[in-house]
Amino acid sequence: MSEAPENIKTLIIGSGPAGYTAAIYAARADLKPVVYTGLEPGGQLTTTTEVDNFPGYPEGVDGPTMMVHLQQQAERFGTDVRIGMATAVDFSKEPGGMHRVTIDDNKEVLAETVIISTGATAKYLGLPSEQRLRGGGVSACAVCDGFFYKDQDVAIVGGGDTAAEEATYLANICNKVTMLVRKDKMRASKAMQHRVTSTPNIDLLYNTEIDEVLGDMVVKGLRMVNNQTGEKEEIAITGLFIAIGHKPNTDIFIGQIEMDDSGYLITEGKSTKTNIPGVFASGDVQDKEYRQAVTAAGTGCMAALDAERYLATIETLV
Ligand code: NDP
Repeated sequence: MSEAPENIKTLIIGSGPAGYTAAIYAARADLKPVVYTGLEPGGQLTTTTEVDNFPGYPEGVDGPTMMVHLQQQAERFGTDVRIGMATAVDFSKEPGGMHRVTIDDNKEVLAETVIISTGATAKYLGLPSEQRLRGGGVSACAVCDGFFYKDQDVAIVGGGDTAAEEATYLANICNKVTMLVRKDKMRASKAMQHRVTSTPNIDLLYNTEIDEVLGDMVVKGLRMVNNQTGEKEEIAITGLFIAIGHKPNTDIFIGQIEMDDSGYLITEGKSTKTNIPGVFASGDVQDKEYRQAVTAAGTGCMAALDAERYLATIETLV
């Protein structure tokens, strides 16, 4: 890393709906954004099939196509999109308020402002049968994919607020929802638990885990196991929803920016400001509650506007 660091006006880390929307707004405001895409260009949506709930696509769109559209829109206004991964940051030492970011362990950039849109990763159980059937009936987002199982029988795994909320969401659409909770109690709030137990078409099973997801190309059923008795049972389902939590992609920011106990970046009030002046966070990396493409895009827009105001302020001070 002997080369002098490259100076960048607006650095956007991550290329999901939040990152590209930030780029569209930043480019149009002449903030000269550079997007580093990360390892999964396009973000989580590139692993989904149909997206039916993003406004503006009356016939739906597949996730990878939508992300290409977002990238093209960002590039139309001059965004510099680069394949690369931010591997380290140092937000503490640079004079002049610059923010140092290392790319791919071998290149340094100094950014006047940084928008972090690195997203979150859904956790999966890790069973081979579950991994094989991702996209074939196994999903980590009921709000995105529940509609495809209208009037069918589905199952959901998890006992937290997400699982409880998604189970009741699915119960409105589907014929029957089998909910598997590995302990003898749920972690979800009492109010959410009440919603689950008072929904007649949710079959709530405690001490129950998945032994195997059944089906070759698409999900056909589940073999469940009671972890107290060892007893196994098979049920027929067409959709399986995994709701066991997400991990925000914030490892490189540990010790650099304020985050909550789960690693989500903390933003100030309704803004996208982090505790570091000039560093903003948008999308799932700072949102454990909504996690939708459209909400991520909304906060991406906010981050670009916040960055623009920040740059205008420091330029006035100089
Ligand atoms: P949580 O971490 O709260 O819950 C995860 C759940 O999945 C737990 O029941 C856990 O079981 C279970 N689990 C984890 N690993 C496995 C596994 N390998 N096999 C089976 N079960 C497993 O995640 P959530 O996504 O539910 O919530 C994240 C945060 O977001 C929480 O703070 C929550 O309150 C918040 N949230 C708030 C909402 C709201 O207010 N409307 C909506 C959604 C989320 P165990 O209990 O045994 O560890």
